[in-house]
Amino acid sequence: MAIGLLAPGVHADAPAWRPTAVETMNRITPESVRHCVETLVAFGTRHTMSDAVSDTRGIGAARRWIRDELASIEPKGRLEVFGESFEVPKSARIDRPTELVNVIAVLSGTMPEATNRRYYVVGHYDSRAGDQMDRSIDAPGANDDASGVAVVIECARALASERLDATIVFLATPGEEQGLLGAHYRASQAEADGEDIRAVLNNDIVGDPMGEPGLIRVFSEGIPRNASAQELARIRSLSAESDGGSRQIARYIEEIASIEDCAVRPMMVFRPDRFLRGGDHSAFNERGFAGVRFTVVHENYNRQHQDVRIEGNANFGDTPEHVDWDYLAGVVRLNAAVLMHLANAPSTPADVRIITAQLERATTLRWLASPEPDVAGYEVVWRDTTDPRWTNARDVGDVTEITLPLNKDNVFVGVRAYDRDGYRSPVGFASAGRD
Ligand SMILES: [Zn+2]
Repeated sequence: MAIGLLAPGVHADAPAWRPTAVETMNRITPESVRHCVETLVAFGTRHTMSDAVSDTRGIGAARRWIRDELASIEPKGRLEVFGESFEVPKSARIDRPTELVNVIAVLSGTMPEATNRRYYVVGHYDSRAGDQMDRSIDAPGANDDASGVAVVIECARALASERLDATIVFLATPGEEQGLLGAHYRASQAEADGEDIRAVLNNDIVGDPMGEPGLIRVFSEGIPRNASAQELARIRSLSAESDGGSRQIARYIEEIASIEDCAVRPMMVFRPDRFLRGGDHSAFNERGFAGVRFTVVHENYNRQHQDVRIEGNANFGDTPEHVDWDYLAGVVRLNAAVLMHLANAPSTPADVRIITAQLERATTLRWLASPEPDVAGYEVVWRDTTDPRWTNARDVGDVTEITLPLNKDNVFVGVRAYDRDGYRSPVGFASAGRD
């Protein structure tokens, strides 16, 4: 299906989607991402239980460097940088009580109606070798996941000078390899504090494209991981298995990559993570926050979680010579572009619903207005039930109710808001309501 034609009388003045992140993306260079990865690798190991005191080796040196690097970003004072410390008790994958520190930088939004909305970009700075419990052996973790930390730091560097409506949180976690410990702690604190997290972009293993330098996988859950029985019943009745918040973010990433003409394109995978696996975004998904994972298209198991060694003709270990700096810079640019659009766009319209008061062939939709003062209107989007992507969009102007000649039996429908500059929100999927 082509993009929907306008029906007579339907508003047609929505500003075009347009690339606005080009300057931001141009600030990201292969040299700067390389510096991040090589510096992190030079700490020898970043195992969660490794030396925390040394200034040259171990996880303590790594986290202090990340914090200093974020704090050095110009213009000074735009980012609020801090460590979030917590102690984890002895457990199956932690052999003694250990202090862990999430390294965090916050770029506060400048629009009062939007500043509470938060978007996270995440990478884990811990590493491991073959033995998950070995705190001493070299564990360079270049691709897994110094590459993701480079995304976090270089997005912060590229975005710090922007004035964005909503807030971006740059998060480097420890303890991922020991059970997503840093991410679980941050997500549980965010839940307890009632933080309004709208999306989490988790970057884990994003530097070695293994022959696919134009693609990055984006994993997204369809059914929210924490859905209650009542919520599951609602999803079944609406056939909304592929329309949770995380899935809408994945579709949004694909649209932004196209609008901004990103060199590294998302390859959407409709599952929460790689087959039966998980990552830091899972900790957020568990608490009801939308979140996706970026990962290279092919993983190389000779490099992941391996001791650095040569066996026959094969090189083992996660060392930096396998990271493609142009590719990794491309992944940073994609993240930065998505963050910029998310943070400048209005909120997703809430309570989008198809009115079911009577049986009719047309479709009447209502929703709540997005609260930002620069909202200029709304678009109704739809797709065939067998389509993975939104294929049609119709501008309906600055209203919160519209009746369209759409057969609700045959399509999925949603609504997104746009502002005066042409920034679009992610789509709010249409549920059902009596009024
Ligand atoms: Zn990892």
